[in-house]
Amino acid sequence: MYPSALSRGSRFPPSIWLPSAQCLPVSEFSAMGKPKVKPATSLIGPLHNFTGEEVATLRSHLLAWYDANHRVLPWRTIAATEPNPHRRAYAVWISEIMLQQTQVSTVVSYFEKWMSRWPTVEDLAQATLEEVNQAWSGLGYYSRVRRLHEGAVKVVEKLKGKFPSDRDGLVEELPGVGQYSGSAIASIALGQAVGVVDGNVNRVLARVRGIGMDISAPTTVAHMWALADEIVDAERPGDFNQAMMELGATVCTPKAPKCSSCPLRSLCVAQQRSGCVQQRSSIKNHFQQHKESAEEETSTIPDIECVAGCDFCLQKEDWDESLGVQNYPVKGRKTKQREETTAVVILECEDGRMLLVQRPKGGLLASLWEFPHIALTEESEEHWEKTVGGQVTELFGVLESDAASRTFIADVTHIFSHIRQTYRVYKIRVASERGVCWPERYQGGQWMTREQFLSSATSTAMKKVLKAVEAQEGKSKDKKSKKSSADQPSKKQKTISQFFSTVAKK
Ligand code: SF4
Ligand SMILES: [Zn+2]
Repeated sequence: MYPSALSRGSRFPPSIWLPSAQCLPVSEFSAMGKPKVKPATSLIGPLHNFTGEEVATLRSHLLAWYDANHRVLPWRTIAATEPNPHRRAYAVWISEIMLQQTQVSTVVSYFEKWMSRWPTVEDLAQATLEEVNQAWSGLGYYSRVRRLHEGAVKVVEKLKGKFPSDRDGLVEELPGVGQYSGSAIASIALGQAVGVVDGNVNRVLARVRGIGMDISAPTTVAHMWALADEIVDAERPGDFNQAMMELGATVCTPKAPKCSSCPLRSLCVAQQRSGCVQQRSSIKNHFQQHKESAEEETSTIPDIECVAGCDFCLQKEDWDESLGVQNYPVKGRKTKQREETTAVVILECEDGRMLLVQRPKGGLLASLWEFPHIALTEESEEHWEKTVGGQVTELFGVLESDAASRTFIADVTHIFSHIRQTYRVYKIRVASERGVCWPERYQGGQWMTREQFLSSATSTAMKKVLKAVEAQEGKSKDKKSKKSSADQPSKKQKTISQFFSTVAKK
């Protein structure tokens, strides 16, 4: 037996241990404070979330590490010692804007000079734009300082010197403050329990939770914010967020991360996965000496997908063993799409109703209604035409005579996150709905009118299939009516005899 992560209590590969019913589409995550993106619904397996126990471990390990290792920085000192929340917010705001695109070591001296010249927001509001530009000289990106100045004037004049008390208010009121800066100021200066996500946090989370989806995809962005909001320590949100960022900047670095001294090592999927790979390689070497058993034993190596259809797992073909944990995060790489072909059968009874079957309660597209379909392998695709009668008869109890009357409608393509699905659509008219059944894997079946189908829970792909059927039937109706109108003269068009009779009348 392969000594996999399974035996060490790792979460990898959870497809074996976790029911797919635990998966959540990303749209179900807490929406609190997430960026205004509208992610497509994706299947996110449990590997990419934290359990309550893991959250507790993460907080205590990370904060203990931060307490022992953090850098002493002037804005951190103000945030920790200044009793006035508006003064704290002001200092953290200045530091966060300076830190955008500028290194910490450069920012320190600029920050100290700035704070001794304009220690409060009122002081800054009274400065001229020329003065603040001058003080900013060398930091670049001057739009940042213009917005700082504009914001200071706004806080003093409109908000009477008081900073908004939470993330949403900061984002709304302060020019140049987006989701990241708003979260940083709210948590570090004002103690609001909201997470932050920057490049460092993205990298840490992608590795710790094995997130193999493109880091810039809206679905991933939304998931990262949901995770950050979930794991932030309510007692010490500012320290927690700074610890996550500091860990990314000093330990979980883009290249050569220091995994051996990382406080999150025990929770890290990337670390476990690269550990698995190392063990797997040594096992392969071992088995190369015993070739007969090699195939059998290596086949017990767990697959990489955490649950069937998970969009967040890094696919086997995308995993580069030489990179180890640096396989995460995935940047701009498109997940390789698998090609799949499925035969979809529209069974229509005499009154025009169609048979719909309901998918199982768990897994991909759980409980949605769909037209019955049969997955085609390369081989069955070849033989589909020959065997369709038998298959439809066997699977759905359709009479052989009905099954033989099928018509091919069209090929419909639908792209799921990593599947390029082709539906080969057929239509079969059944003389009687009695006797028609469906395979056990479905929850049930129902004959539906077009309207009932459109108002029930169905996938976009199935709606596309219906559209294709209607388009095809519309075309054939058009053809028929064109043909019949070509055969029969229109009202305006005169027959030859009418033409001559008209002429004669003249
Ligand atoms: S164990 Fe390594 S990869 Fe995982 S979070 Fe720590 S430094 Fe990053
Ligand atoms: Zn997964």
